[in-house]
Amino acid sequence: VKKIIDNIHILKDETIIENGFIEIEDGIISNIGESSNNKANTLALDLKGKRILAIPGMINSHTHSGMAALKGAGDDLPFEQWLFQTIIPLEEQLDDEMIYLSTMISQMEMARNGITTFVDMYMMLDSIIKAVDEFGMRAYICRGLQDDSLEDGQRLQKNIKAYEKYHGTANGRISVGFGPHSPYLCSKEYLKKIADVAQELNALIHIHLKESQKESHQYTFRELANIGLFNTQTIAAHCVYADSDDIQVLKEFNVSVAHNPSSNLKLANGIAPIEKMHQEGVNVCLGTDSVSSNNSLDLFKEMLLASLIHKGETKDPQAIPATVSFKMATSNGANAVGQKNIGLLEKGMRADIAFLDMDNINLFPLIRPISNIVYSGRGSDVIATMVDGDFIYYFGTYPKINEEAIKKQFMEKYVKLYK
Ligand SMILES: [Zn+2]
Repeated sequence: VKKIIDNIHILKDETIIENGFIEIEDGIISNIGESSNNKANTLALDLKGKRILAIPGMINSHTHSGMAALKGAGDDLPFEQWLFQTIIPLEEQLDDEMIYLSTMISQMEMARNGITTFVDMYMMLDSIIKAVDEFGMRAYICRGLQDDSLEDGQRLQKNIKAYEKYHGTANGRISVGFGPHSPYLCSKEYLKKIADVAQELNALIHIHLKESQKESHQYTFRELANIGLFNTQTIAAHCVYADSDDIQVLKEFNVSVAHNPSSNLKLANGIAPIEKMHQEGVNVCLGTDSVSSNNSLDLFKEMLLASLIHKGETKDPQAIPATVSFKMATSNGANAVGQKNIGLLEKGMRADIAFLDMDNINLFPLIRPISNIVYSGRGSDVIATMVDGDFIYYFGTYPKINEEAIKKQFMEKYVKLYK
C-alpha cells in the first residue's frame, strides 16, 4: 500500500520546501516534492496537524548499543582506569538477555533523537540482531574482536557465522560487519586474518584507531594498510592522533573516520584533526560512542560540538560549518557504510526520515534550516522517526515494542549488575 505524508515542510539541500509531500511505497520514497494532487489509493499518515520539517534520518556511525546498563559507570576517571578497571569488568557480567535489553534501550534513545541507522561494535550478536529486528532500526552490526584471550579464533568464527546467518536480513535493515577493537587489543597477525575474511565477504570493518595519546607512536596507518586492513569498506573511529601521513593513508584507501567529539572530550583524549581531514577530502561521519563515554545517543549534540570545537581549536570561525556537520550526521554516514540509498530525502531513497517540530521555541522560526538545526536544535525537537516507511518513534511512543515491559526487565537485571 502506498503511504503519503502531506502538508509538511521538507529539507531539500539547504532550503525548505513548504507545503510538501512524501509518498512511500515498499519502504522507498516513491515521490517527493511540492503538494501532490494524486492521492488515490494512498494511506495518509497523521502528523497531528503540527508544523513539521522532514529531514533525513541521522546515521550514528560509531556506537556500542549493548552498553546501556553502563551509562555513567566510571565517569570522570582516566581513560585506562575507565576502560580496564571499570568498563571491562562490568562487561564480563553482561549476559545475552542484558545485551538484548540494552540494545532495545539504546535504540529507544536513538530513535527518539531522530537516528535511523547505527554502526555498532559489541558482543553477543544474536541478541543485538534480535533487538534490531524487533525495534525496526537499520544497523551495521560488528562483533568486537580481540585476540588476547583464550577465546582466540572463536570470536572471529562467531562473527563469520553471524555474517552468514544474518547479513542482509530484516528486509535489508541488518548488515553484519567485523569489529576488530583496536591495534592495541589485536595483534598484526590477527588483524590480517580479519582483513582477509572481510575482504573476501566484502564486509564492513569497524575499528578504533589512535583514540588515545598512548597509541600515537604504537603504529602508523601505513602499516595497517600494508597488512590489508583498508582493502574493504572501513570505518575508523576517533583518529584523534592521526598525523599527516595517517591522513594521507585515510584518503588513499577511502577510509571513513567516525568522529565522536563528546567521547573524545569526556575521556580527555583530545580533539581530532577533523578540519584537516575535511580539507584533505577524507569522508568524516559522526558517532556518539557509548553511553559510558558520552553519555547520550544524540547526534544533534555531536553536530553542535563538531562545529564548535574545531572553530575553537583552529581559531577559524569558518572551520566545520553547520552544513558540514549536518552532512557528517547524514550523507557522509551513508558513504561510510557504502549504502547509497540512505542519508538524503530524494525519490528512490529508503524512507528513513526524522520529523522535527518547527514550533519548538529553540528552533523557531527555522528560517535558516541547517544553521538552526545544528546550532539551535536538539534531539527533543524530533516528534517522529521512521525507517523504511514505518514509524519506530511516534509522539512519545515506540510503536513496534512494549516499552514498559522492556524497561521493567532491564531494571531487574540492572539492580543485580551493581549489587
Ligand atoms: Zn567506541
